[in-house]
Amino acid sequence: MSDCDAAAEPTAEPSDRDTAAGNPPVRRVSDWSADRLADLASEHGTPLYVQDLDRVRENCERLRDAFPDADVRYAVKAHTGRAVLDAVREAGLDAECASAGEVDRALAAGFGGGRLHYTAVNPPAGDLDYVVDVAEAEPDLTVTVGAVDTLDRLAERGYDGRVCVRVNPGVGAGHHEKVRTGGAAKFGIPYDRAAAATRDAAERFDVVGIHAHAGSGIDPDQLDSHRELVARMGELARELADPDDDTPPPDIEYVDVGGGFGVPYEEEEPPLDLPAVAEATREAVAPLPAGVDLAIEPGRYVVADAGVLLTRVNTVKPTPDERVVGVDAGMTDLLRPAMYDAYHPIRNLGGGRESDGSDAPTPEDRSATPVTVAGPICETGDTLCTDRALADPARGDLLAVGIAGAYGYEMANQYNSRPRPAEVALDDGTAAVVRRRETLGDLTTVERDANRNRADGTGADR
Ligand SMILES: *Cc1c(COP(=O)(O)O)cnc(C)c1O
Repeated sequence: MSDCDAAAEPTAEPSDRDTAAGNPPVRRVSDWSADRLADLASEHGTPLYVQDLDRVRENCERLRDAFPDADVRYAVKAHTGRAVLDAVREAGLDAECASAGEVDRALAAGFGGGRLHYTAVNPPAGDLDYVVDVAEAEPDLTVTVGAVDTLDRLAERGYDGRVCVRVNPGVGAGHHEKVRTGGAAKFGIPYDRAAAATRDAAERFDVVGIHAHAGSGIDPDQLDSHRELVARMGELARELADPDDDTPPPDIEYVDVGGGFGVPYEEEEPPLDLPAVAEATREAVAPLPAGVDLAIEPGRYVVADAGVLLTRVNTVKPTPDERVVGVDAGMTDLLRPAMYDAYHPIRNLGGGRESDGSDAPTPEDRSATPVTVAGPICETGDTLCTDRALADPARGDLLAVGIAGAYGYEMANQYNSRPRPAEVALDDGTAAVVRRRETLGDLTTVERDANRNRADGTGADR
C-alpha cells in the first residue's frame, strides 16, 4: 500500500473523523481532492501554494466555540495574505501583529480600533514611530511590551495609550527549541519583576492587560507546561488586583496566554483536543478578578491545515543509498523542514511518466518507496523529507506537501535568486490567484541600476 493510501484510511483517532461532515479537528493532506489540486497545478504552474479560506473559517469557528468567553486574536505572522486576513476578520477574530509591516497589513484589511494588537519584540525605532503614529488615529490599539526600556521609548514618543505587559513566565513549550519563547530571556519581563513593572507602567500608560506566550506547537504532551504558564498568569492577575499599599491597582481587562496551539503534522498524530485545552486553560487561570477576560493568540492553528504546497518532480535519481526525488520547490518556498527539521506530510498525486515516456501508473498502483525529496537550492539542508515512503515518484508527478498554510509562504524568500511562488485562494470552492508568481525581473526591482545593461531593454518589467 502506498503512503498516500495509508493516510487516507481512517486514522487511529476517532475524533479525527467524527465530525468529518462538518468541521473536523484537522484536515489531512489526504482529505484534499487530488483532481482539484492537479487542475490548479496545471493552470497556475508549480510551485504553488493553495490556501482554502473555507478551512480558515472553520478553524476560526472551532476556536471560538472552544473559547466562547475569550478574546481570540489571530497572530498574523503565520500567514499575512490579504485574503486570509479578510476571512479571519469576517470570522470575528482580532489581529495580533509583530511588526510595523504586520500592523500596516492588518489595518489595510480593516482591523481597526480595538481589534488591533501590536506586540513589540525589541522594536526597531521605525516600528515604534509608525505604531505611535497609527495610535493617534486608532486610540483603541494596544501595544504589548516586553521590556521596561520599550515603555520608556514609547513615553519618549508621547505615547500614553493602551499597553499590555508581556511577562516571561519562566516556562516554555514548543516543537523545537527555536520556537520556545516562554523561557527565553528575549521575550517578556521576568515573572518576579512583572507585578512591579506593571504597576509602574500604569502610572504612565493605560495598562489593559498582561501577556505571555510560551512558544509554538503545544501538543497533548506539553499540556502541563501550558497549564503552568496559564496558572502563573492567573496568579499575577490576582496579585495585581490586590495591591499591598494604597495605590489603585491597574485596571486590567484581560490575561492573554498567547498562542502555540499545535497542529498534527504527522499523519498518525492525533489532532489537539481543543475543547480539552480550553477547559484546562480556564481551570488553570481561575479565578480571574471581576472584569478580567481570557485572551488567546493562535496563529498556526488558524491557517496551517488550510494550506498545501504543490510541487512537480523534475528528476528521479537512484543512488546506492537512497532514491533522490528532485522537485521544483525548496527551502526558499517552504523553509520549515530546513530550519526546524519540521515534518510535513507529502502525498504523491501522480500524473508523471516512466523513463520510456509512457504514463506512470496511478499512485495507488505503485509500491511505497523510501525517498529523499530535495529542492533546487544549493544547500545540503534543502530537503522536504528524507527516507520517507511515498508512492514511488516518477518524473512529472505532482506532490502535495500538506499542512503548509502556516509559516509557509510567510517565510518564503529569494535565496539562490529564486522568485517566490504563486498562491491561489479557494473561497467557497472558487479559485483565485491572490499572489502572482514572481518573475526574474522581480528579483532586482529594489536594486539600483541592476537593469542598466539588459540587452533586451526590458529592464525591471522582464
Ligand atoms: C508567534 C506568536 C503567536 C502565535 O504562535 P502560533 O504557534 O502560530 O500559534 C502568538 N503570540 C505571539 C506573541 C507570537 O509571537
